[in-house]
Amino acid sequence: MSPMDGAYTRASTMDAAPRVTVAATAYEVVMGIECHVELKTQTKMFCGCLNAFGAEPNTNVCPICLGLPGALPVPNRAAIELLVKAGLAFGAEVPAFSKFDRKNYFYPDMPKDYQISQYDMPLTVGGIVHFWRDDGSRGSCRLTRIHLEEDTGKSSHAGSRDGRIAGSTYSLVDFNRAGVPLMECVSEPDIRSREDAVAYLEALKRTFVALGVSDVKMEEGSLRCDVNLSLRPYGQTEYGTKTEIKNMNSFNSVARAIESEIARQTSILESGGRVVQETRGWDEAAGATHPMRSKEQAHDYRYFPDPDLTPVEFAPSDVARLRQALGALPDAHLERLIVMDKLRVEQARQIVDGPGLFEYYAAAAGISGKPQATVNFLLGDLSRLANETDTPVFSSGVTPEALAELVGLSDAQTINSKTAKDLIARIWVEGGSPGAIVAAEGLGQLSDAGAIDAVVSEVLAGNAKTVDDYRAGKTKVMGFLVGQVMKASGGKANPTLAEARLRERLDAPR
Ligand SMILES: [Zn+2]
Repeated sequence: MSPMDGAYTRASTMDAAPRVTVAATAYEVVMGIECHVELKTQTKMFCGCLNAFGAEPNTNVCPICLGLPGALPVPNRAAIELLVKAGLAFGAEVPAFSKFDRKNYFYPDMPKDYQISQYDMPLTVGGIVHFWRDDGSRGSCRLTRIHLEEDTGKSSHAGSRDGRIAGSTYSLVDFNRAGVPLMECVSEPDIRSREDAVAYLEALKRTFVALGVSDVKMEEGSLRCDVNLSLRPYGQTEYGTKTEIKNMNSFNSVARAIESEIARQTSILESGGRVVQETRGWDEAAGATHPMRSKEQAHDYRYFPDPDLTPVEFAPSDVARLRQALGALPDAHLERLIVMDKLRVEQARQIVDGPGLFEYYAAAAGISGKPQATVNFLLGDLSRLANETDTPVFSSGVTPEALAELVGLSDAQTINSKTAKDLIARIWVEGGSPGAIVAAEGLGQLSDAGAIDAVVSEVLAGNAKTVDDYRAGKTKVMGFLVGQVMKASGGKANPTLAEARLRERLDAPR
């Protein structure tokens, strides 16, 4: 966390980044990402104030988080454990000792004028984040460390985009966020493309949400990213000069900022210039980065151990307990869906990221034995109903057993797609067994050629004008005639068979 980070904008609501490939250049892109995540605790990092978003300004504050003289911090055990769980999920090491340091700098929204952070002895070291690319290939990025620190307050400047004090010439500061536990995940420079950067961040987000480490509400600023980016000619081993891009609070912004910075550095290098090492801000509206300040060095912050806080000591049994509490991780779920069930990466992501969808899917597909057909219903009609009614699929009347039954009935062509759709909508509200309803109400698909022929005759006789049109070459009316057969059969006709019989009759020489 550095001084300028206080005034994050809250504008973007888009988390999903466009997945477009940047035009190839002669340069290899090298990126490392620092990701700040607010931890989901009841209280702040070093005091008993509520860790809550959206309260009236300066209501969740006390002498400790306001940095008043004589106030002493006490570390929040829950925050430390959440961070360690996050590290363990990625295979990080948990050193036996870790400590808090003071990072000294002045910024108006940081009341103590130092930030309690960690310098040389972070809570977790190393680890690796695996992610899936859209094409089904696997990528990874090593973690350098994950450390714990406190968030700053939030400044609102005159004319700032949130408009609260637009037109005036002063700044306001809200200390509700000051002292909120913040973990910083620092990656190695392993990322080579914009797509991988977004896939990496999505993997982090998905894991933190699954572990309950953070809500990761990006629109509330609970995940913020800085990207270190440099270019080098392909084949060169040493890194080029990097810039650090700040102020990104959506994956969409990250993707756009990376693209813009690659273009800027490429044009400097191609015209024979030198990239200057500096911190650059991302301007969402302008779609460009701009210089903020030259890059500070660690010694500028004069880190030293915080004398108010004792080192954190971990017994192996503590680490074992936290490791045990991890449970099944989203990456393992993705692997099962993509590798075993052969789903597309995008479908697998939707299932893993949806509320309770993975467990629901696993239960339904386990019974039906047909992953793809199960997913088609789940991400189609069921997800649409979930959105329309603002109800998660697992709370609807359609149980995993009912969905599996429906998949079976469709697959055996006992019911057509229209009947399946109607049944889902009905069972969503009323519950019940699709098989029992089909049997009781005779909703089974009409696949008997004789029975369909009877309906076809009826439709042809009642639509003489359309029949003439078809025979005169307007074959597009076939869709209408199939629709009439479906209607006359109460929606039960097998549409493929109906069309075949219609064609046979209409195309026959008279
Ligand atoms: Zn407080």
